[in-house]
Amino acid sequence: MRDPDCIFCKIVAGELPATIVDEDERTLSFMDIAPATRGHALVVPREHSPDLLSIDADDLAAVGLAAQRLARRAKDRLGADGVNLLNSCGAVAFQTVFHFHVHVIPRYEGDPVRLPWVPAPGDPGEIAFAAQELAAK
Ligand code: AMP
Ligand code: ZN
Repeated sequence: MRDPDCIFCKIVAGELPATIVDEDERTLSFMDIAPATRGHALVVPREHSPDLLSIDADDLAAVGLAAQRLARRAKDRLGADGVNLLNSCGAVAFQTVFHFHVHVIPRYEGDPVRLPWVPAPGDPGEIAFAAQELAAK
């Protein structure tokens, strides 16, 4: 299944250029054209799924393993001090390309990437109430 208007489907099909760094039966990984840090790559399933909520479970597992491969290489070959994996699900969560993808962002001491929230202790009652809603029923 592919979406004819999807740029990542076009990359998977070889119809748009990309700098591919990893591939397997279910996934393709390529460099992000607007990297947050040196080595920033994206892992996508070959099959089109818009987001985290719709992706096939085996594709999700394969994407996770591919992201781990790239994270290891970022440390071993690029000298990264750490790695962030990022998935954005929904426009409100920063998603701009609606073909599921995981960002693999190598992190370096002193790099410019910052947390998108300010950590501060939450209200215990609010946390407990949200937990009740989230807990498996
Ligand atoms: P998101 O905002 O999480 O949906 O991430 C989309 C990412 O795709 C951004 O980091 C873009 O820089 C990246 N991107 C968009 N078009 C391309 C492309 N043709 N090749 C590689 N990366 C792309
Ligand atoms: Zn797609």
